[in-house]
Amino acid sequence: MSTQTAQSPPGSGQRTRSCATGLACHRCDKHYELADTIFSCPDCGKGLDVIYDYELAARHFRDVPSAERPLNIWHFEELLPILDASAQARVGQFSGYTPLIRADRLGAELGLSNLFIKDDSSNRPSLSYKDRVVSMSVARLLERGKSEIGCVSTGNVGTAVASLAAKAGVDAYVFYPNRLEDMKARACMALGAKVCQVEGNYDEANRRCREVAERTGMDFANITLRPFYAEGAKTAAFEIVEQLDWQAPDHILTAAAGGTLSSRLHKGLKELQLLGLAETDSTRIHIAQPSGCNPIATAIVAEEAEVQPVTPETAAHSLAIGAPGDGYLVIDAVRKRGGTGGFASDPDIFAGIDLLAATEGLLTEPAGGTTIAVLEKLAASGRFAPDDTVVAIITGNGLKTLDDHPPKQWPAKIECELDAMLSALGELQAGEKLMDSARSQLDH
Ligand SMILES: *Cc1c(COP(=O)(O)O)cnc(C)c1O
Repeated sequence: MSTQTAQSPPGSGQRTRSCATGLACHRCDKHYELADTIFSCPDCGKGLDVIYDYELAARHFRDVPSAERPLNIWHFEELLPILDASAQARVGQFSGYTPLIRADRLGAELGLSNLFIKDDSSNRPSLSYKDRVVSMSVARLLERGKSEIGCVSTGNVGTAVASLAAKAGVDAYVFYPNRLEDMKARACMALGAKVCQVEGNYDEANRRCREVAERTGMDFANITLRPFYAEGAKTAAFEIVEQLDWQAPDHILTAAAGGTLSSRLHKGLKELQLLGLAETDSTRIHIAQPSGCNPIATAIVAEEAEVQPVTPETAAHSLAIGAPGDGYLVIDAVRKRGGTGGFASDPDIFAGIDLLAATEGLLTEPAGGTTIAVLEKLAASGRFAPDDTVVAIITGNGLKTLDDHPPKQWPAKIECELDAMLSALGELQAGEKLMDSARSQLDH
């Protein structure tokens, strides 16, 4: 067990194998205790990063082989910030370790012979990448002995908080901005969370939630617990490399909103290299954003060091963050790794959803459609060698966003009678549209 970790957590007293040793400011590198309840640097105001004893972590990795580790978010618990084993045991047992799918049909379409989809649209319990990060927030909340958690959400943080909080037995409060998919708010309520829709966009709601957190002392999954939340995102990088038999891919592409996932992929890859588990230095990270909200991609392409905030206007609601908190970290990560940023219009985003569905049988939401649309553009522009290993992360499930998806056609209603059905089938096989113009909706 680690002797470097200063904190003695409440609860059972049982310790995880976490090798976390403290917090450090992303910008000025000033150090703080892991037990401190601050979430930004009191000196310079920037975010805090969890730091680890990597020598100890390397020893643990040698001692406990992969086959003996759980296939969930805690597979790499040494490099996660939760110390209390009982808190850890109550959260995320089914989160993470999503499939890495060889996408041969989509790859053939794009001229890529080693294309993989990291399928976080099947993440559990709430079908998005947010199950990774919110698992850390809820575990941290339990470690602190608290019983209420709030969040501000573009859509998927809310459903992840509602679900993971319910399983952990804590009360959830979700603040949504004025534009998001109906299904996400409804799912939260069905899961028992208290939901509030704020008149304002995400960035405005986020600022106010920070004030609410300061005034009430309530922990917010992605504000006051942010340093812990962010660590969950690294697990996607760890899993990808392990699933490729410890051969790091040449490229990883993901959608970016606040910038947590894309910047922590970089941290995760660096850590695997530090521990001697894989050579990851040459992996490039690329990000995808909607044209209607692309402050990070714009800064990358213009070679600026800071993001200029924008007012979002896009159908990809889960990516509608105009003032991304971790934008500067993404710019740094992408630049250091020789990647790039791309963007896609709303029609291209929906075409991306359709392409992934038709080739790989995966139904994703507009965030995933953004990733596929940008993947297509980067492939067409010759960014990838044909046999490069390319991993595209599909971050959310399309079942929550189907209301926004333009249907190709509504099915016609026909008699339940053999001849009628045979003739309808014949027309469908001939590629004819059996459009029933009188109906705009499927009957239930
Ligand atoms: C939140 C989210 C993202 C982007 O996350 P960041 O870490 O904030 O950049 C991507 N896709 C989906 C579906 C999301 O919900």
